[in-house]
Amino acid sequence: MRKQTVFDLCDTHAALGGGRRSAEMACEGGPAYGGPCSPRPCRILPGSDFYSQDCTDEEFVGLVANWAVNR
Ligand SMILES: [Zn+2]
Repeated sequence: MRKQTVFDLCDTHAALGGGRRSAEMACEGGPAYGGPCSPRPCRILPGSDFYSQDCTDEEFVGLVANWAVNR
């Protein structure tokens, strides 16, 4: 597993900026406002700084797709 989480955020959510709060938000249903990801989904590649070892990149693709703003 990588050491640092990679936050490659879409234009809509770029202002979240990454970091611990964004890491929590990603697992708590996504951004509270701001509309859906555009023009492409946010890409979050989990690292051991914020997430447990069993988190996978594929899992996080599904996580972003299931954010309330993206459903
Ligand atoms: Zn987004």
